[in-house]
Amino acid sequence: MTTAPPHLDASELLRGAGLRVTDSRRAVVEALRAKPHVSADEVFQLARRYVPQSSLQSVYNALTDFVDAGLVRRIEPAGRPGLFELRVDDNHHHLVCTGCGAVEDVDCAVGPAPCLTPSDSHGYTVQVAEVTFWGLCPACASAARDR
Ligand SMILES: [Zn+2]
Ligand SMILES: [Zn+2]
Repeated sequence: MTTAPPHLDASELLRGAGLRVTDSRRAVVEALRAKPHVSADEVFQLARRYVPQSSLQSVYNALTDFVDAGLVRRIEPAGRPGLFELRVDDNHHHLVCTGCGAVEDVDCAVGPAPCLTPSDSHGYTVQVAEVTFWGLCPACASAARDR
């Protein structure tokens, strides 16, 4: 797993990814550290806590640059806004609650990325496999039972 090492501060992470360090970029890194799987709007809300003058446009720009630099992964569960996280390059998957939209990380089911080997690749060179498990989180499941 290559989750951002906790001992590195935001500036070091940015430099490590070959990115220039700016206040608004650092704010976006801190926002993603505070909460994984957040939409650009949520990143913006969080980033303003660190750098009050952050603009939505600067947050969008930073997220695009981070994805391009491989620092951030964007996931797009069907019908949801794109979500961003700092955990990259480990082929992990996601559980998404159809009730409240909660998202959890899940590792590959068995062994090192077995889902990168489709039963028939149709001649494609497969680089990424994204699996989204849909269901109800424990809180939504128990709320549904109580209803
Ligand atoms: Zn839920
Ligand atoms: Zn994740």
